[in-house]
Formats: sequence, C-alpha cells, structure tokens
Amino acid sequence: MNTQPWRAKAACRGLDPSIFYPSADEEDEAAPAKEVCAVCPVQVECLEHALGFREREGVWGGATERERRRIIRQRRRAAYAAAAKRSA
Ligand code: SF4
Repeated sequence: MNTQPWRAKAACRGLDPSIFYPSADEEDEAAPAKEVCAVCPVQVECLEHALGFREREGVWGGATERERRRIIRQRRRAAYAAAAKRSA
C-alpha cells in the first residue's frame, strides 16, 4: 500500500538521487535539486513529510537540512507564542 501517494507525482522521480543529497549543506551544492523542487507539483507535501519525519539529510520540498531546522524552530517559537498568548 502506498501511504504517500504524493510521491507518484514527484518531479524527482527517475532522476539521479545523488543531486538531492549534496555533499555539503551549502546553497550552491543544493541548487540543482532546488531547481527541480521549484517546479514540483508536490513540493508542499514533500516538505511537510520531511518536517514531520525529521528527515535529516538531503533536499526535501526545496529545503536543505539547515533550512528545515530553521522552519522547525520558527514553528516551535510560533506555537509557544500562541500558547503563551492563550494562557495570558
Ligand atoms: S519537492 Fe523536490 S524532493 Fe520533494 S518530491 Fe518534489 S522534486 Fe522530489
């Protein structure tokens, strides 16, 4: 059973996976993968999957590992701020 049907529409299907796993988490190394992700119809689903499963390596949903960590921190801060506002 395919529990991630969005993968069937992935723009990276059939491409060399190595471009999605650059040797360094640097912007220029990730550029080829990001170009593919930019036109991928399931970019949002892919990014949310990576955030939810805390994928550590590679480019997912157009975001590098460092960028995903930043998104997680931002969401965490926003959730804390919202909780604090509700309890105030
Ligand atoms: S967003 Fe990028 S990594 Fe994710 S499925 Fe699309 S092309 Fe592949």
